[in-house]
Amino acid sequence: MADPAMHVKLLDSRILFLGAPGSGKGTQCKHLKAELGLPHLSTGDILRQGIAEGKPACLQAKSYIDSGNLVPDDLITVIFKERLVLPDCSRGFILDGFPRTLPQAESLGAMLKELRLPLKCVFYLVVDDQLIIERTTGRLGCINPKCGAVYHIKNAPPQVDGICDICGGELKQRDDDNADIVAERLKVYKEQTAPLIKYYKEQGMLQEINGARSQEEVYADIINGLRSCVATGGR
Ligand SMILES: [Zn+2]
Repeated sequence: MADPAMHVKLLDSRILFLGAPGSGKGTQCKHLKAELGLPHLSTGDILRQGIAEGKPACLQAKSYIDSGNLVPDDLITVIFKERLVLPDCSRGFILDGFPRTLPQAESLGAMLKELRLPLKCVFYLVVDDQLIIERTTGRLGCINPKCGAVYHIKNAPPQVDGICDICGGELKQRDDDNADIVAERLKVYKEQTAPLIKYYKEQGMLQEINGARSQEEVYADIINGLRSCVATGGR
């Protein structure tokens, strides 16, 4: 980031990322976190950490997840509220994976208003289903637990078919990466998220980003999008 004044302004960013599993959202959030130093609040990380710390709301969420149920909207909202009130969020944050439903988005809006920390930009990483299926189902992992290297049949193949370059271990496709499961995951995501897309579009906050390009190109668009949000004062 060449302009230091712009950099300081971007530090106040309060950003929400929407995008299907496999859209590359997590990677982009990590880049942004590294560059802007903002806390990256992903549902998975917050739950894992909260469970490890024995937080009651997170433990309650765990009991839903363990029994194969969705965590209720109210509960997930409480969990995020506990996180968003921490001092590190006062100068910006990146939300990833929450809100997932319209009621969650409405609760988030009310909560952030109360905290005087309204969202500035909402990015929606758009990637065609077929491409997500190709990206995720082509993943191969080394079965050696000490190695865990990840390859991709097309984009990052090992030198020898089925064998890890690093440790010589066997490479296997992950069970939850098979095409049917990925397609089902995408369908559920779309059904849940469609009302959210509409909601943020109506508020004039949504920026759609074409995620079917290189990580660098996608990231450049996100930074430009952030700049335009900041320049117009956000919402
Ligand atoms: Zn290996």
